[in-house]
Amino acid sequence: MTLAEFIRRSSLADPKSPFKYLTITERALRKAQAYARLIAEEFDDAEYYGYLLGDAKSDRPIVDDVLLAPDQKVTTGSCTVRPESVIKAGQEIARRGKKCLGWVHSHPRFKPYHSYIDDRNHEVVLHQVGPVNFVTLDAEELVFPGEIRTELKGDVLIISGANATLELRGDGPLGRITISQVKLKAVQFVSYAYSLVVTAESSETYAEIMLKRWGGCADEETMSYEVKLNILYEDADELRKEIKEKVSREYWTWGWRAWGEADEEDEELLPREGQQHPADW
Ligand SMILES: [Zn+2]
Repeated sequence: MTLAEFIRRSSLADPKSPFKYLTITERALRKAQAYARLIAEEFDDAEYYGYLLGDAKSDRPIVDDVLLAPDQKVTTGSCTVRPESVIKAGQEIARRGKKCLGWVHSHPRFKPYHSYIDDRNHEVVLHQVGPVNFVTLDAEELVFPGEIRTELKGDVLIISGANATLELRGDGPLGRITISQVKLKAVQFVSYAYSLVVTAESSETYAEIMLKRWGGCADEETMSYEVKLNILYEDADELRKEIKEKVSREYWTWGWRAWGEADEEDEELLPREGQQHPADW
């Protein structure tokens, strides 16, 4: 299964799929934005670097906190964190029962987007957090399709096809099996990491996900694309209750199609494999 197919399937099964949305609590988002504004004020329009944290035990990646990276050196267009500090941050994250789901940085006085440098940094973060942020998928591969020959040599059954040979050893009556197809099922790992860009000037945000499918030999695949924010409001239950009491939805039919039923999903989520952006500066 290709990454694009995996993303499509998981989004069909789950409308708020973590591969389509970065789910973040209102408090964590506010904190990410507050750091951006306060650091820009404190250090002459400097940017900052932080980690997006979620509950280590949760199956669903929900960003519920932000950790400001320790010992960072900041300028208007860059941020440096030494490897020792990354390790120090990792230890603190683990101590707090959290895991790192990605990274956040700010563009103090310009629009949030991903520069070429941000793309490269995102990949570094993915390699750091990949071992703990992954999903597994069963890959089914048809191995050596075409004419299959079987041959029994002693207690070894040799199955050969167009481009591969499989040898099975055992005690049973191997020679009596008639084989017409060989399918190999293997578990594959897809690692992912989010990136959130905030600004000191407005509440505008930009988010991306990067995924990597780890495969054998040359079968690896990396992909990154923009995701929307799914903000979890703290008082959502209360507000929902009030909304239900005060608001009801009306539909006007126009021909065969009701208003509000536009196919909004059509134009979104077109993952790109290689991204090209001008640099930050
Ligand atoms: Zn940037």
